[in-house]
Amino acid sequence: MISKSLRIGGMLIGYYRLCPRKAWWSLRGIAMEQESDAVALGRLLDESSYARSDKHLEIEAEAPDGTPLVGKIDRANLKHGVLHETKKGRSCEDAHRWQLRFYLWLLYRNGVTRADGVPFSGQLDYPLLRRTEAVFLEAEHYLELEKNVAAISSLAIQEIPPPVLTQRSFCAKCSFEELCFG
Ligand code: SF4
Repeated sequence: MISKSLRIGGMLIGYYRLCPRKAWWSLRGIAMEQESDAVALGRLLDESSYARSDKHLEIEAEAPDGTPLVGKIDRANLKHGVLHETKKGRSCEDAHRWQLRFYLWLLYRNGVTRADGVPFSGQLDYPLLRRTEAVFLEAEHYLELEKNVAAISSLAIQEIPPPVLTQRSFCAKCSFEELCFG
């Protein structure tokens, strides 16, 4: 049973972009140990690698269809208008980009900009790889995020999980593999 107070967050958007079935498991409150470890490692990397002046930020917003949205942002440099998301590896980099675009969208939905009116931008940080990537929210991303939120809301009431991925290469790294393939 899915809670009526479902709020869609950035990690769920990332899961959905990787594999709708992964999002479906997560919507049912299933978090495998490996996933929790990855989140904890990300937090540790985040806390040990970057400036203390940056702030964790939590933001709530509503999608155009009224769906409640929430973002827990690793670090925000408010002065320069940059949201940071820390990851350990780049194997899911497209999902990472969408997670960060989602957070930028929440700011946009709330009308939040830098002091000079310029929209916030994002930065993916890969401290173990010593790499960063700039991420921007472009006009074409708004509709895509709207569609993703609507699809996740539908998944929340869907009784059976979406099909498994046909490309099994990603599944080998997914903590839900045993649930999907036994
Ligand atoms: S094991 Fe594969 S099909 Fe199952 S949730 Fe993970 S990525 Fe999706």
